[in-house]
Amino acid sequence: MGDFLRCECPHCGQPVEYPPTGAGQSVPCPGCQRSLVLTTTPQPTPETGRFDLACQEFAGDPEFVKHPPTRDQIGRAWAWANFKNSHPATAPTHAELVDALKKLYPEFKKRPAER
Ligand SMILES: [Zn+2]
Repeated sequence: MGDFLRCECPHCGQPVEYPPTGAGQSVPCPGCQRSLVLTTTPQPTPETGRFDLACQEFAGDPEFVKHPPTRDQIGRAWAWANFKNSHPATAPTHAELVDALKKLYPEFKKRPAER
């Protein structure tokens, strides 16, 4: 312990610890396996990146594919996951977003999206 640095995967929000000698290297994320650069510089990421990942969990559900969540619904699911997380400074994790989509999606389907 001691000298490890921390960063967050820009794709899924997974916290990653690494030795200072690893700074600047590109490694696969332990959470989502996507490539990330080890840096202490915060990397702002559009929320949709994480949501795209969360939505991929439902790629096999024809109903979901037929009625993908609208922007408004995405915002609600994000807020719900964030509320459940109860750490305002921490963005919801991939699992929490998937959970939020699972919870709210039946409700989404009842409200016909604009065509
Ligand atoms: Zn990741």
